[in-house]
Amino acid sequence: MTRGPSQRAQEFTESVIRQMTRLSEKYGAVNLAQGFPDFDPPNIVKQAGARAIREGHNQYSTPYGILKLRQAIARKLHVYNHIDYDPDTELTVTCGTTEAMMASLLALLDHGDEVVIFEPFYENYGPDAILSGARCRYVKLRPPDFRIEEEAVKQAFTKKTKAIIINTPHNPTGRVFTRQELGIIRDLCVDHDAFAVTDEIYDQILYDNRKHVSIASLDDMRDRTIAILGFSKTYSMTGWRVGYVAADKTLSAGIRKVHDFLTVCAPTPLQQGCITALSLPQSYYDKLCKRYDQSRLLLLDALGKCGFEAYKPEGAYYVWTNIKGTGFTDDKALADYLVSKIGVGSVPGSSFYHKPADGRLNLRFSFSKQPATIRTAVQRLSKFKIGLGKPRRQPASEDRNRMLVPETLAAQVR
Ligand code: GLN
Repeated sequence: MTRGPSQRAQEFTESVIRQMTRLSEKYGAVNLAQGFPDFDPPNIVKQAGARAIREGHNQYSTPYGILKLRQAIARKLHVYNHIDYDPDTELTVTCGTTEAMMASLLALLDHGDEVVIFEPFYENYGPDAILSGARCRYVKLRPPDFRIEEEAVKQAFTKKTKAIIINTPHNPTGRVFTRQELGIIRDLCVDHDAFAVTDEIYDQILYDNRKHVSIASLDDMRDRTIAILGFSKTYSMTGWRVGYVAADKTLSAGIRKVHDFLTVCAPTPLQQGCITALSLPQSYYDKLCKRYDQSRLLLLDALGKCGFEAYKPEGAYYVWTNIKGTGFTDDKALADYLVSKIGVGSVPGSSFYHKPADGRLNLRFSFSKQPATIRTAVQRLSKFKIGLGKPRRQPASEDRNRMLVPETLAAQVR
């Protein structure tokens, strides 16, 4: 018998988001697929990272993260997120929020536990849950509002529910959940003795005066929440891989052990750079949101002209769309066409659902780029002709959309 990857590793595919980046590179497309900026962190932050390397911060740090960084994180969480944690025992610096989520789920969940996930969802949560042995229960966020529906989420909670993943601002829909919506989750967590595991990586990327609410700041939730945040998006340093987990002492002790054996520590010199990042003035954050707001409006307008129903995001940097009005009826065919013929990368909606068919009429675009780059994408999109994907007179048995485009994406992501 041929031996190969574990059963576990065969239960999920490679990330479609990252595959779309590879295709964007292949076709020289503007990459609106994977959410990462095309600009650098502020100079002062880059210099702090470089200086730390020059000055000899080149060995492991303590697994929990440099104390001075944890202290700076504790101050940020107090001031901005209205939650208080002890940097000695309740904060852990990780290799991005990706590792933070994996370490947290491994530390929290046992085989057979259930975890509730809103969908569409950021694609990492599926494999994360599989790797932790838990069973997922999905609750739909429905267009056009993508609000948390009390009845639906209530039905997803069972005796086996150990956790719910709360991602706000939400990827891919851009929803910023309100205090009232988070209150529904709070009540369910308390009633079921369950935990909220958050992904708040976009907590400082907000539009139209929206305010971010951390569920841990709600009554009775501090010790029921594993709050996951990071530096990648706020400081445009997705390649630095620095994130953090805030949780009460007992939970943190479990998370710290898993984190230690997964990665030992986040990159030491870059942790030093993150201390400087946390000292930036308010004007830095205002400018960042303003820049993304410009990109957001440019892209929304262009997508509307191409026939997409584009839902206006309240936070984060993604536009979630329905493709019906474009004439295409298959997300992958359209993503393929856009990347190879128009020169714009996007992500097929099916990769945000556990049943891919549910996202067949959706596409996600990221506007995590400077307005000039979005203008280039907009110019390319202006060549898009509505109705092109409409079935022509073809034999009924054939996949008509797919006949219009080469077998590129189809071969790679199906
Ligand atoms: N969060 C980003 C996205 O959704 C990508 C993150 C990643 O690729 N690790 O596009």
